[in-house]
Amino acid sequence: MFNIDNLVRKNIKELVPYSSAREEFTGNANIWLDANENPYKTNLNRYPDPYQLELKQSISKLKGVETDNIFIGNGSDEAIDLLFRAFCEPCQDKAFIFPPTYGMYEVSASINNIEVVKLDLIDNFELPSVEVIQDDIKSKGLLFICSPNNPTGTSYSLNSIREIANNFYGLVVVDEAYIDFSEEESAISLIKNIPNLVVLQTFSKAYGLAGARVGIAFANFDIIDVLNKIKPPYNINILSINAALEVLNDSKIKSQISNIKIERESLKTELLKLNNVANIYKSDANFLLVEFINSEFVFEKLINSGIIVRNRSSHIKNCLRITVGTQEENKQLLNVLKEIQS
Ligand SMILES: *Cc1c(COP(=O)(O)O)cnc(C)c1O
Repeated sequence: MFNIDNLVRKNIKELVPYSSAREEFTGNANIWLDANENPYKTNLNRYPDPYQLELKQSISKLKGVETDNIFIGNGSDEAIDLLFRAFCEPCQDKAFIFPPTYGMYEVSASINNIEVVKLDLIDNFELPSVEVIQDDIKSKGLLFICSPNNPTGTSYSLNSIREIANNFYGLVVVDEAYIDFSEEESAISLIKNIPNLVVLQTFSKAYGLAGARVGIAFANFDIIDVLNKIKPPYNINILSINAALEVLNDSKIKSQISNIKIERESLKTELLKLNNVANIYKSDANFLLVEFINSEFVFEKLINSGIIVRNRSSHIKNCLRITVGTQEENKQLLNVLKEIQS
């Protein structure tokens, strides 16, 4: 049975959170003399809403999730760090990951002095069945499933996520940074019935706000409540809140996403014609994981032409991760690759 008290660290359970001026009085007033702000008006002279209610209401409408089930972080990276700090007892609980995957899970685990347990994916970067990992995950902590996975582009089914969550004592964190490019359904629909599930999304990728640092965690209220308690009081600034509100109502985003998906497939087709491309994995994200027969050579040559891709060859032999750019950028990339193919 899920009981938040069994999962939260003792010191966090006992924590008396900081109470900001903007929490002690909410409501309307004409004169605000409670937060030592400069009274001369600019767009930014007041502290932001500590709980970003207006932004959460917009997200709530779009995603069909109650505002109480939404947490906003300074990027999803902040949510990941807060999850460790709240739910992992250092030197005791564990972080479970399926490499190759997003590097921040391991870094955040190490910062928080949490041991990382690496679980094997099966062929084509698919998740193993729960029977295979059951004995390895008998510990509390966080288990990360990145779907679509960075850097492989693989999406995981809601069924496999559900199975793992039902067999894990800690919290399962499904990182959906690339969900807008995926054919797979979001795991948000599962949070109602799976109390130990956290779903992360972000404004950094499809929504074009990597510079604004806005990430979202969806989960049951017990979990959101703990994150709210330990976050820095004003973790999202007014400029970023407004940028996020604006982009949620921006009709261009949808067409950009579908363009990127079309570009992804045509880039893949063209890359496969090169004689030094050995394999391209199926991608549900806005990048391709491309195996070359000579990835180091290609990587260097691209840099010399002013084109930067992500070298993943230390994790996956001979692989480069290439973000899908504009049609023009992709064309230039292909031109350079054609010139240097052996
Ligand atoms: C890019 C990315 C993020 C985004 O992190 P932000 O802090 O929201 O910018 C999260 N998870 C994965 C897997 C990513 O690739």
